[in-house]
This record gives sequence, C-alpha cells and structure tokens, in this order.
Amino acid sequence: MSGAYDPNNIFTKIIAGELPSHKVYEDDVCISIMDIMPESKGHILVIPKQGSRNLLDVDPHVLSDVMERVQKLAVATKHAMNADGILLRQSSEEVAGQTVYHLHFHIIPCYVGQKRGSHVSNSSSNDELAAQAELIKAAM
Ligand code: 5GP
Repeated sequence: MSGAYDPNNIFTKIIAGELPSHKVYEDDVCISIMDIMPESKGHILVIPKQGSRNLLDVDPHVLSDVMERVQKLAVATKHAMNADGILLRQSSEEVAGQTVYHLHFHIIPCYVGQKRGSHVSNSSSNDELAAQAELIKAAM
C-alpha cells in the first residue's frame, strides 16, 4: 500500500548525521553512502536530501539534479571497483521491493562470472565498506 512521505526514516537521520554511514559523496542535492547489505562489492545508494517517498512523488527538478549525480557516481564506482557493468535500481512501493521509504537509487556493480547477492540479506564488514568508500571517493 502506498502512503505519504514520512520524514521519520533512516535515510533522513543519515543525511542529518544522526546515524553513521560510510559516505562516498555529498553536496547540496544528495548524499551517497555504502549500502550496509550490499548485493555486490561496491554497492552504493544515492539519496536526495529533499524528502520524497519514491520516484512517484519526487519533484522532477530534484530528480533531474539527482540523476546527474547518479551517472557520475556510477562511472566512478565502475572504475573504482573494476566492475564490468552497473545495475541501476529504484524500487517504488513494497510490491516493487522498497523497504526504506525515502527515495534512493541503488548503484550495484556487476562482475563477469559473479552472481549478485539477494536484496537486504548480505552483510559486509565496516572495514570493507570503509575501504570501498575511499576507493569510490578517490575515483570521483
Ligand atoms: P530498498 O529496499 O528500499 O530498495 O533499499 C533500501 C536499502 O537500504 C537496502 O539495500 C538496505 O540494505 C539499505 N539500508 C537499510 N538500512 C540501512 C542503513 O542503516 N544504512 C545503510 N547504509 N543502508 C541501509
């Protein structure tokens, strides 16, 4: 079932610095962080600072600004992770797989011969995520 945007969500707390994250990028439009349950090595999230529930209610001007950042971050992530391709994903509503109700884009590196992990079921160590964040930052 869909609903209104609720600003009381985990990503607004991460944007506000109230919860920790492995940050890859930040400007006035968005933040990019390592996904804590990565589907592959280097899986990041791009999260607009302006709150919206998902793709269905975002301001199109915000969307356009965010997509520019998504492309830059995808290029940097592919390079930094030495990946063979990038899967870009955005889920709107539970039936589509959305679990956090603040718009975000997944940038998921893909590697020839490697199966991706399932959604929200893997874990990665803090050290690994920190090291990957540094590599992506350096590639930006
Ligand atoms: P969705 O299921 O909405 O498409 O994606 C939400 C993503 O957020 C999932 O891939 C999940 O692993 C990630 N996630 C959930 N909680 C946190 C958190 O506290 N920190 C970070 N960095 N990622 C999170």
